[in-house]
Amino acid sequence: MRFAARLLSAVIFISFTFATLTSCKREPARSLYDLSIVYEEGKIEGKLVYKFVNSYDSTFNHILFNLHANAYKEGAIHRPTTQSNEVRAYPDGISYGKIDILGVRADNKTAEWTLLGEDCEFLKVTFDRLKKGDSISIEIDFHVDLPNSALRLGENQNGVNLADFFPVACKIKGGDFMQISYAPVGDPFFADLHDYEVDITVPSEYTVASSGYPTLTAVDGVSTTYSYELKNGRDFAFLLSKNYRVQSVTADGTVLTYYGFGDDGKEMLELMTDCVDFFSKSFGKYQYKSLSLAECQLALGGMEYTGLCFINCSLQKEDKITVAVHEIAHSWWHSMIGNDQSLSGYLDEGLCEYSTYLYVKNRIDKSLANDMINSTKLSYKSFFTIEETLSGDVNTAMERELDSFKSEYEYSSVAYSKSLIMFYEYGIAIGEDKAVKNLADFYKKNLFGVADLNSLISALGYGEHFRSFVEGKVLI
Ligand SMILES: [Zn+2]
Repeated sequence: MRFAARLLSAVIFISFTFATLTSCKREPARSLYDLSIVYEEGKIEGKLVYKFVNSYDSTFNHILFNLHANAYKEGAIHRPTTQSNEVRAYPDGISYGKIDILGVRADNKTAEWTLLGEDCEFLKVTFDRLKKGDSISIEIDFHVDLPNSALRLGENQNGVNLADFFPVACKIKGGDFMQISYAPVGDPFFADLHDYEVDITVPSEYTVASSGYPTLTAVDGVSTTYSYELKNGRDFAFLLSKNYRVQSVTADGTVLTYYGFGDDGKEMLELMTDCVDFFSKSFGKYQYKSLSLAECQLALGGMEYTGLCFINCSLQKEDKITVAVHEIAHSWWHSMIGNDQSLSGYLDEGLCEYSTYLYVKNRIDKSLANDMINSTKLSYKSFFTIEETLSGDVNTAMERELDSFKSEYEYSSVAYSKSLIMFYEYGIAIGEDKAVKNLADFYKKNLFGVADLNSLISALGYGEHFRSFVEGKVLI
């Protein structure tokens, strides 16, 4: 995610150099989302066939799914936005949405299921014992009412934001399913990698941007069905609009596509191409077949999904560039190398901010990169001073539950600004070339897995430096 924040005056200089890098894919048995949805104004009708492969050292007699869409329902406790952000989140007035489960089968037999959580945000499907190596097919029919909103999920004047709306298997940790409820601040997500086979049917006047690589398009006169595949995806999302202008290019085997509303498509596509080139050369190869960057009405600056970056269509040009770079960097620090965003959002957000700094410094303008660091330090120090004055005590610990953050301001100061300072100071201490080499090592060791503070330190060293920042012991 990226807040709409820092100004960066820049004339983009793009250089095209496509490296041929060798891929080192591992192909373990992965669970699969086979998802079919039909969009009509205000709603989604969907069918999910979740093919779960038990590759864990545990036996399961149920699967827990997260129903993120219930964060949007009236009276929800774990809401999708803060009160102070409601005007931007609901530009046409408060609106609600929800997901209804219509039926569940397990291996073609009617299955027992129940809703759990304060907002019915979890679906528990029960079945017979499933040992390691066994698999099961869970079929879920569902209906989603879409809110009118500029959030991750919602219809608005520019189109439809379709993310986190279908049942998503909760992350398995220590032989059990993690229960992460929605939160108005930060990204309340942590997922294992899956393969996806997805169909979406929309009225034909819509253009669809998605996380997947397109495999088939079928038109029946009034509606169009698009089919996609995605391997090793952390998540899967769509953006729909009747007004997209689309620009596409294939670079180093990856199809890059920009979906925009204005006339800057060529420039944005060049930025995307150059970013993927820079990050691939710096950290490691981009591993997916496609990457799309799409504008949308959004109360945030941007939002990351595997293969698809959302970007706020009302950003000024300078912010649009830094937000785009940040979101593209999430392909490395979220999709290919995951982390628990609900607990350690500083890890992916700080790495994306540091990657943005490196890109700006190396491919745009050194002095702008310095401005970015100076303004981040200033911004963090003013947060600290204000908090200390108001409450007498500032919690600057970086690894903590999202609901412990009092505001977006606190979250952005700690997870973005402080974390960027942490990585920047590391780069200064060890040398930026060495820092980038170590991040490439971090990528290699954790590709298609999940990382935490320990795995970061194991690749980057400087344990005391990172721990003292994360534990809130450093004075900046
Ligand atoms: Zn982010």
